[in-house]
Amino acid sequence: MEQLEVQNPATGEAIAALPVDSPEAVAATVARVRASQPEWEAIGIDGRYRWLGMLRDWLLDNSERVLDTMQAETGKVRADASGEPQYLADLINFYGTRAAKFIGEEAVRPHTPLLAAKKLRIQYRPHPVVGIISPWNFPLILALGDAIPALQAGAGVVVKPSEFTPMGLAEVVKAWKEEIGGPDVFDCVQGVGETGGALVDAVDFVQFTGSDRTGRKVMARAAETLTPVSLELGGKDAMIVLEDADLERAANAATWGAMMNSGQICMSVERVYIEEAVYEPFVAKLTAAVGKLRQGADGTGFGSEVGAMTSPNQTAIVEDHVQDALAAGARALTGGKRLPGPGDYFEPTVLVDVDHSMKVMRDETFGPVVGVMKVRDADEAVRLANDSRYGLSGSVFGERTRAERVARRVECGAVNVNDVLVNYAAVDVPMGGWKQSGIGYRHGEPGIKKYCRTESVVITRFGGKREPTWYPYTKPRRALIDRIARAFNARDLKRRFGLRG
Ligand code: NAD
Repeated sequence: MEQLEVQNPATGEAIAALPVDSPEAVAATVARVRASQPEWEAIGIDGRYRWLGMLRDWLLDNSERVLDTMQAETGKVRADASGEPQYLADLINFYGTRAAKFIGEEAVRPHTPLLAAKKLRIQYRPHPVVGIISPWNFPLILALGDAIPALQAGAGVVVKPSEFTPMGLAEVVKAWKEEIGGPDVFDCVQGVGETGGALVDAVDFVQFTGSDRTGRKVMARAAETLTPVSLELGGKDAMIVLEDADLERAANAATWGAMMNSGQICMSVERVYIEEAVYEPFVAKLTAAVGKLRQGADGTGFGSEVGAMTSPNQTAIVEDHVQDALAAGARALTGGKRLPGPGDYFEPTVLVDVDHSMKVMRDETFGPVVGVMKVRDADEAVRLANDSRYGLSGSVFGERTRAERVARRVECGAVNVNDVLVNYAAVDVPMGGWKQSGIGYRHGEPGIKKYCRTESVVITRFGGKREPTWYPYTKPRRALIDRIARAFNARDLKRRFGLRG
């Protein structure tokens, strides 16, 4: 049987080998979950929240254990891993307490008196099995975080985690089955792209998070079975610094926003545009802050701030972007190169003298690298921020009202004013990509509604043996129907009475 060999990227050591699921095994897992799903749907929103509440408690009680696993497979520093269990606990409570509002049955009043005899209802019924395909940068948030609203909606869920980080999610699934004793509606399958493809074939809805390159393949494959997809893809997020910004806060935010999780965040600050009056002092502060970061393998002692690169393929992309920029005239004010092993590290890097002809300002770098450009004014900053095929999120720093005005012009799914990345914690509001950053949303009302199909139920409250529009057709009856309909549809008296306007 094929195996996934898992390494600790912080040290290069092999830590586990997991069997790969064949396409037949994927289909069998989905079939099992599908068989259990109707009962899961039938226990209702509160019944499902009770089970998910047990998962929340397990996550809180076992967070250190989960963090150890996740840290080992990603090479993250402890602080960058630490937020995941807490985010998930909060998300379980968010959807558990709001699901009735978001996906409870809706009563709708007919828009016209012609339908006065009908009672209109919308019921939200889950897609029976949701397949989640997730990346390696936040192995729990981006797998379990999407599973939670799907399960709360009443769907069964099968996850395929990244082949680089399969263990954290597998541990949670095992706990759901063996420690919590949860219904058989939540499982995972392991493998590379082939396993992901088999999952797409077998499920009723696909939630994919990963690169836009793979997202296109997933969407094309789903098209074969007309399976709906939601895609959360890459980004090239811009930060704009206006001349009236608090420069200290803006530089600290750029440092954290660009380097957190070694820059391996879809919403990382990858580009910064600064009004010329404050360019020099901002760059000095940013370079000093980035240059001071502690990098290296971290245990549980919080002795390091920037961890390893999780996937060797990504390190090669980061190196290529930096070298491409340096060869075209950019300068690295700090960092600029890969570190010697053991472990896979790239130095926190600030690049200046960059422009939009360079990969580092155009393509997703997904590493601890930030490109910085001086701009004449806010208009030029907005123009450059929007000059991207991506549109995931962004941020603007400056005096609040002015910064807010500028922020509303940035073309992306979420924008932060005087902060970075924080919209991900504001699960009240949707988060999704514009342009090639994705299709669909997670968080907020759309984040659970997407896992449901609407069923409109139109109920006849009263009526005779037949409706006036049914057979047999006669000229006088048709004329009467037209006269009545015209009386409601026309918006002026003349037409209401059958005259021309
Ligand atoms: P990736 O696209 O290489 O892989 C993502 C997942 O897809 C993995 O589980 C992989 O095994 C699977 N896969 C690969 N080929 C497949 C195929 N043909 N069919 C089905 N599944 C297949 O992405 P990655 O390198 O793991 O993650 C990094 C990317 O994820 C970056 O582009 C990043 O921006 C993006 N990302 C986006 C968000 C978001 O919310 N928008 C969040 C995190 C990461």
